[in-house]
Amino acid sequence: MTTVLKFGGTSVATPEALARLTEIVRATAGKRVVVVSATAGTTNALLQAADAAAAGDGDRAQRVIDELAAAHDGLLRSVAPVAADTTAADLAELAARTGALLRSVAILHECTARTRDAILAYGELASAPIVAAALRRAGVKAQPLATVGMVVTDDAFGSASPIFAETHARSREMLGPLLDDGVVPVLTGFIGATAEGVTTTLGRGASDYTAAIVAAALRADECRIYTDVSGVMSADPRMVRGSRPLARLSYAEAAELSYFGAKVLHPRAVLPAIEAGIPVRILNTFAPDDPGTTITGQGVPDGSVVKATTSLGGLGLVTVQGAGMSGVPGFAAKVFDTTAAEGVSVLMISQSSSENSICLVVPADTGDRLKAALERMLAKELAHHDVERVSVERPIAVVAAVGEGMRGTPGVAARVFGALGRTKVNVIAIAQGSSELNISFCVAEADQAKAVRAIHEEFERAAS
Ligand code: ADP
Ligand code: ASP
Ligand code: MG
Repeated sequence: MTTVLKFGGTSVATPEALARLTEIVRATAGKRVVVVSATAGTTNALLQAADAAAAGDGDRAQRVIDELAAAHDGLLRSVAPVAADTTAADLAELAARTGALLRSVAILHECTARTRDAILAYGELASAPIVAAALRRAGVKAQPLATVGMVVTDDAFGSASPIFAETHARSREMLGPLLDDGVVPVLTGFIGATAEGVTTTLGRGASDYTAAIVAAALRADECRIYTDVSGVMSADPRMVRGSRPLARLSYAEAAELSYFGAKVLHPRAVLPAIEAGIPVRILNTFAPDDPGTTITGQGVPDGSVVKATTSLGGLGLVTVQGAGMSGVPGFAAKVFDTTAAEGVSVLMISQSSSENSICLVVPADTGDRLKAALERMLAKELAHHDVERVSVERPIAVVAAVGEGMRGTPGVAARVFGALGRTKVNVIAIAQGSSELNISFCVAEADQAKAVRAIHEEFERAAS
């Protein structure tokens, strides 16, 4: 029996959390691999340090590193107060190296994506040895292990993709002997390296992804994601009072939810585990006996229609509008070629049936750039008034109602939009995936929470 246990930022940030973590690892039988995030807030602080340095404020960046170093040193000493431990010296050296990187950024006034990844790696490189020290102190044979050199990725810095064959081979090679010796490897989530050994990161929140990748590589029996809530909830608990943990989710539902903003899970995270047939469980470090959420390849019908409502703010809606677009072949292709050429990621698309408009939901800060590029691309159509205008609206939010149960159930859309109408939320654009697994729509960002609550209320009331 092999279990991969991933602990998120809040689960490794305090002595109390580390005590919980230790108990959970000790209570898990068989071979165990631990994957950790940076301590809560550390990755954000590192990003701020990188930005400050890029703006030339090296002193501010150094202060951030000093504070992080002091906090990590304090955490280490609180769980493993053994003066001779070399871990403290390793952490100090890591902080010094990161400080040096930030100084060169400040001198150059530029932080490339590659350098930023090297700076961000500090977070997980620092937390893994602390967690390992806490485990060792509790009598667990544990060893920190940097996934640089194990998770091999492409060079898409900031959101690198693993090269699976190589990563699987190296994971087995590096972890197998440790596991056979009864050692618990404590891996850095989130980070990897190119084949040439240059540090990369897999995207924000991607420690979950690391856990699933390693679980697949080891053909583990279970992949557990420990966080600070008791599973994936029917809505973001910070937004909706009365949201509740969901016992089961299909992979497709989980993917939709994380794609549309449910921060509890990284969007790509579960796929490697699910493809390998390994169940993923989301559990609470601070209430480990709660049943949590189990995600499996196939959904188990539970009679619900909309299982969860989620949302994502900070977006913009770019609309291309004009009567002359109707029935012109290749028009949509032109629009999408432009978004691809600009490197803008599109979260949602909606086209009106009369083909009078195409709406694209994109990150708010890319809206103006995309609008300008589309205007250049469509200059002829604009001049001939086939396209009336390209406009951008923001800030907007996408809200998604997700559930396998809506497939083939009539009237779901009517209930969603009925609930919104009653709460007087104006819907700007609508899209429904052909999977019939979600209904997503745009609202002004100011209406985001109201819209989520209205839909959650509508379907929870019916379920209870
Ligand atoms: P970790 O550091 O453990 O990875 P995250 O902060 O990334 O934790 O994710 C957990 C948080 O996700 C929760 O504290 C909760 O506030 C937020 N969250 C947003 N939507 C949901 C949801 N539908 N279900 C559960 N948690 C959610
Ligand atoms: N530390 C990284 C982040 O904050 C990865 C993670 O927490 O999963 O994005
Ligand atoms: Mg997370």
